[in-house]
Amino acid sequence: MRILLAEDDPAIASLVSGQLRSAGFLVDVSGEGPEIWEIGETTDYAAIILDLGLPGMDGLSILKRWRQAGLQTPVLVLTARGSWMERVDGFDAGADDYLPKPFRSEELLARLRALLRRAQFRPLQSLAAGRFQLDEAAKRISFDSRPVETSPMEYRLIAYLAAHRGSVVPAIELAAHVQGREDDSAKNAIEAMVARIRRKTAPDSIQNRRGFGYVLLDDPQ
Ligand code: CA
Repeated sequence: MRILLAEDDPAIASLVSGQLRSAGFLVDVSGEGPEIWEIGETTDYAAIILDLGLPGMDGLSILKRWRQAGLQTPVLVLTARGSWMERVDGFDAGADDYLPKPFRSEELLARLRALLRRAQFRPLQSLAAGRFQLDEAAKRISFDSRPVETSPMEYRLIAYLAAHRGSVVPAIELAAHVQGREDDSAKNAIEAMVARIRRKTAPDSIQNRRGFGYVLLDDPQ
C-alpha cells in the first residue's frame, strides 16, 4: 500500500519512513507544501500522514483544498504537542485522526492501520456529475461514458467543479484551487483549460456564467 508522508523535519521523516517501509508500506516523502498538495491529489494513496507546519503552504490549507476537491483519502494529521486548537482545526478541515508530536512510531503505525481498516469500508470513490463520471481512485474521467484523457490540472478542475456541482464557481476560486495562484494569468489559464476540456467533451460540458464563474450542471439533459 502506498502512503504519502508529508513531513518537513528530516529527522522525523527519515525515522518514520524507515519504520513504515519495514512494516511493508510503499512510502513517498515530501516536505514541500505545494508539492504535497499536488501529489496528494494526483497520486492514488491509501492514506496520507500530514504534518501541519510545512513550508510553502501549511498542512491545514492543503487538507481543506483536498477535501473541497472531493478527495476522500484518509488523512492522519501530526500536531504540535498539546495544541488542542490545531486538533480542532484539523478535524474541521477534514482530518480522520491526529497524533500529537512527539510520538512513538509504534503508535503511528497502529493509528495508520486503524485508519486503513476503516477506509476499506468506504464506498467506491466515484462520482457522477451531469455527463461527467469521475473515478477518484484511478484519476480517470469519462464523459457520456466515453473515457477522456486529462492532464492532472484538467482533472483537478473537473473534480473541483464536480464537487461543487450545481453551483457557480468563480474563476478566481478555480485558479486558486487548480493553480495555487489567484492572479490574472492564472484566471486566463483556467479559461484556456476550460476551452480544452470542452473540445475533448462537448461545447456546453462546462458552462460559463459570464461575470460569475463556471458551473457543471447536475442533471444530464
Ligand atoms: Ca513541520
